[in-house]
Amino acid sequence: MLERYEKYLDLIGSHLLQKYFETQKEYLHCKAGCSHCCESGEYPFTNLEFQYAMVGYKALSEKEKDIIQKKVKQIKIDKEKPTKETFMHECPFLIDKKCSIYKYRGIICRTHGLLYFITDKDGNSRNKMPHCVNLGLNYSNVYDENIGMISDELWAKSGIKNEPVAYNLGIKALCSNSVTKELELDFGEAKALIEWL
Ligand code: SF4
Repeated sequence: MLERYEKYLDLIGSHLLQKYFETQKEYLHCKAGCSHCCESGEYPFTNLEFQYAMVGYKALSEKEKDIIQKKVKQIKIDKEKPTKETFMHECPFLIDKKCSIYKYRGIICRTHGLLYFITDKDGNSRNKMPHCVNLGLNYSNVYDENIGMISDELWAKSGIKNEPVAYNLGIKALCSNSVTKELELDFGEAKALIEWL
């Protein structure tokens, strides 16, 4: 199964996601050493993705494993503290602002930085901005914080030819499509990364 999963990662990476990043490149500031996307989130992982991430984890040094285990322990303590907001945390696999399991990271991780949309149970869609828009990074030149969305006026002013596009990057869409069916991939249950650890 993991071999077929690697084939799938290759396919979505080299075709679908590469195309999205290329089309949106004028709105993106992603570069090596930037880890904002991994510093505050929930990181949904399916069972299959988690099994793959564990292959990367097992290959780490004892020192790195120790850092990750300590982070997991602290995140679980923090998670128990009552809060009205959704619990967000730094990814335990992030060490010194780098993903320690980069080759084995989840599918959601591979989409970090792009504008995307989610659809609720009633079928209504709404766009979601990458976290770093508020840091003056991705899409910030076309984002109107007063209305909380992309502004057509700012886009026109930016002079960028390709329009800002929100893609369907939900875990359901990425883990259940014609390619995953053809490869007979069973992703299993999806839940927040910390719940797998
Ligand atoms: S697994 Fe790696 S890429 Fe994904 S959120 Fe964690 S540190 Fe970031």
